[in-house]
Amino acid sequence: RRAQQLALAEQPARSRDGISVAVAANLGSVADARAALDAGADGAGLVRTEFLFLDRSAAPSVEEQSAEYDAIAEAMDGRRITLRTLDVGGDKPLSYLPMPQEANPFLGQRGIRLSLEHRDLLRDQMAAICRTARDHPTSIMIPMVSTPGEMIEARQVLMEAAGSAGLPQGLHVGTMIEVPSAALKIEAFLPYVDFVSIGTNDLTQYALAAERGNAAVAALSDALDPGVLQLIDHVCRAARGRIDVAVCGEAASDELAIPVLVGLGVRELSVSPPAVPRVKAAIRELDTGRCTTLAEEALTLAGADDVRKLVLAMLEEDE
Ligand code: PEP
Ligand code: MG
Repeated sequence: RRAQQLALAEQPARSRDGISVAVAANLGSVADARAALDAGADGAGLVRTEFLFLDRSAAPSVEEQSAEYDAIAEAMDGRRITLRTLDVGGDKPLSYLPMPQEANPFLGQRGIRLSLEHRDLLRDQMAAICRTARDHPTSIMIPMVSTPGEMIEARQVLMEAAGSAGLPQGLHVGTMIEVPSAALKIEAFLPYVDFVSIGTNDLTQYALAAERGNAAVAALSDALDPGVLQLIDHVCRAARGRIDVAVCGEAASDELAIPVLVGLGVRELSVSPPAVPRVKAAIRELDTGRCTTLAEEALTLAGADDVRKLVLAMLEEDE
């Protein structure tokens, strides 16, 4: 029985009408990678590398980082890993990165903004990622990008980090889409990215001006708000047939969000390791044609509650 379950876990998730949707895992440690493989993850869609940098007095060396990235890649047993460069800021300070106090850390110097101010740190991390990418299928992903200029600068640092050997073969370079203006300007990013991954946690907080983690505005901060869905739709339309679009925020494991995301054209969901089997099971129940119709209607609705009702009605009809 367990062997059967494991075998099913490892199968790719295909909808009823035969469309494959990759289900990858979000990781924050080597232990997470082992859990992800056991759960049947098709890859690591988001490795939050912060775990290597927090709670220490100096940044990890290139060697130390590369050893950890290798360990994650090895635990994922040949599946692609997507390493996100350091995403810290005023809300997650590092003792060795002096940062001014900010009144609004979520609107301040975080993610790539901070990394471009500390290029040595970014270059070292990119050098470590390049090392791992020479031996394992690896993607590099840049967080909190607002402008194509930031992506161009990040790529320059990456070229420096890669050195005379050049970019490793098979290294994919992508950006997270977490800032509403970046979603709207997606077309301008396409020359500089091999893929994008939509971070619905931050995209939602910025689109609705409702801080994530603030209980008082939690009801507002809902990724199923049609305003957020319109941003995702805009990204998917521009990307179609050109680059892959993944979603790696919490919405990717929300059973009422999955049909809408698939309907908008998302073909990779990256979720916490324990959620992988449940998300695969949800995809196997879907018909993507119906999801497309559903998503088109969802885009026209007034609020997240209306979208949830619409999705529930479809799922109940199918039971
Ligand atoms: C997101 O913003 O949706 C995301 C996946 O990144 P994080 O949760 O690490 O900010
Ligand atoms: Mg984020």
